[in-house]
Amino acid sequence: MVTAMKNLKVVKFGGSSLADAGQFKKAADIILSHPSRRFVIASAPGKRYAEDEKVTDMLYNCYNKAAGGGSFSEDFKAIEERFKEIIKGLNLSVNLDAEFKSIKDAFAHRAGRDYAASRGEYLNGIILADYLGFNFIDPAGYIRFNESGVFDLEKTIELLRPKLEEVENAVIPGFYGAMPNDTIRTFSRGGSDITGSIVARAAKADVYENWTDVSGFLICDPRIIENPKPIRTITYRELRELAYMGATVLHEDAIFPVRAAGIPINIKNTNAPEDRGTMIVAESDEVSKYVITGIAGKKGFCVIHIEKDMMNNEVGFGRNVLRALEKSDLNFEHMPSGIDTMSVIVNKECIKGKEKAVLDEIRFRVKPDSIEIEEDLALIAVVGRGMIKTRGTAGRIFSALAHARVNVKMIDQGSSELNVIVGVSEDDFDTAVKAVYDIFVLTQE
Ligand code: ADP
Ligand code: ASP
Ligand code: MG
Repeated sequence: MVTAMKNLKVVKFGGSSLADAGQFKKAADIILSHPSRRFVIASAPGKRYAEDEKVTDMLYNCYNKAAGGGSFSEDFKAIEERFKEIIKGLNLSVNLDAEFKSIKDAFAHRAGRDYAASRGEYLNGIILADYLGFNFIDPAGYIRFNESGVFDLEKTIELLRPKLEEVENAVIPGFYGAMPNDTIRTFSRGGSDITGSIVARAAKADVYENWTDVSGFLICDPRIIENPKPIRTITYRELRELAYMGATVLHEDAIFPVRAAGIPINIKNTNAPEDRGTMIVAESDEVSKYVITGIAGKKGFCVIHIEKDMMNNEVGFGRNVLRALEKSDLNFEHMPSGIDTMSVIVNKECIKGKEKAVLDEIRFRVKPDSIEIEEDLALIAVVGRGMIKTRGTAGRIFSALAHARVNVKMIDQGSSELNVIVGVSEDDFDTAVKAVYDIFVLTQE
């Protein structure tokens, strides 16, 4: 058994950090620069340049062709090439031909979408382990899901912990595990972040480093704001709010395994390892100089506006509205209400095709004076643990939006005063995010 080491780190490298041989070298330099980085989670090769395709997407497309009975050899060859190019660029002698052959056979025999997608992480993990001279642990035997496909943390820890104690170091592919009958099962997209968190928990790590292509969790999506400032420290709760609303730098479920054990996550940039990145922690007294911690948002919602005089006196009004949604198997995102009005925000994709049924059911159950549905709503979450201590935050958000001529369609302040959610038309989305960023961040510089 390997002796316990202080300062044990579990490190996860995302797709862009392992996209080609050059990126592999950077990752290896980081890993080998300190012996505390003993357990490494590998993603599948990501994009090498903006128009490139992620290997995971290539695998899904290729498998769709195979499962449809079409020819998929060309597509499969392109996937093989991605890995061969990495092996060649690193001057490794590892040969994956037998693996390619058995995966291709499995595709032809329709081994399943999850199996297909998982092979990107599997193969990249083999290459990285070879390059580093580390052990390779196939998560299929350790990361376990139950019969219904739900991840089983308890079983996983029970299997994985002793295995990790046995080895000095290891590379473990991210994104997948297996069901009780050993069928491969993946997490949802971006799920290697979850694997990293699980391994950190099982290894009782001191920190879970998540290496990506940005210098930490940024105050705002860099695809909307040019060069946004990184967040130095963020709490799990704040992160969850931002991740849920589209800040996709870390999978929203990745905090649960580490959170229970109080293990901090450090988001770091593989291309700028000296940058301090973002620490994700349970609690923090460090207050951001900007008052807010971050801004995130998503398009693709719609709002059902319900009006009825004296609605607030009617016992069970809200329950009846929600029952109507339940009947169509819909959940809701937010439900702000006034004395005579109530709005229910739902995901546009989920309600598609069910609009009439839902409105009719609400009409039947609560007899509103008026009811209408408005589409193309975007939601923006302004999140910050500092807001509770600072007066006038909501006022600043709304005056910034009014100034930018953005019409606010919905407001919801979470009861924890951790976030303010505003609903705007999808066309106003970028303008609104910029306006909020400007007022809280740029004007403070
Ligand atoms: P990886 O392949 O390393 O898992 P991802 O592509 O999943 O990386 O996540 C990193 C990307 O998340 C960044 O390149 C950036 O485009 C995007 N992103 C969206 N919102 C944010 C944010 N608030 N902070 C940082 N990155 C963000
Ligand atoms: N490769 C998988 C995806 O693209 C998992 C991950 O990168 O985290 O979703
Ligand atoms: Mg990711």
